[in-house]
Amino acid sequence: MLKVYGTSLAPGNMNFPSTRMDGRLSAENGVKMAKVYHKCHFCGGEVAEKMITVDYRWSEKLMTVINNVPAGVCGVCGEQYFKAPVVKAMERLARSKKRPKQMLKVPVRELKVA
Ligand SMILES: [Zn+2]
Repeated sequence: MLKVYGTSLAPGNMNFPSTRMDGRLSAENGVKMAKVYHKCHFCGGEVAEKMITVDYRWSEKLMTVINNVPAGVCGVCGEQYFKAPVVKAMERLARSKKRPKQMLKVPVRELKVA
């Protein structure tokens, strides 16, 4: 028999029928809880989920640009946090041999500081 103790429950495991939950634990809340991020590691600011565009790099080399990436973004310093499944999905996409939606050609310049 599955025993559930409120806070110890991982959000990912909350897919049992909603009739077994009390009001606070509706399926909708489960989805919301899955989007909760820890406070910013660098500045302690609030981190909220946003859909962002990622310049995916592999040892400094720009591999691909990925749109619609869900990431936790710090409201103070802008630091970005990615969940492990999102990172895995981006790795897979970066290696994909499928024809990309769009190709970009961008100028590369160097900053010379005196
Ligand atoms: Zn921050």
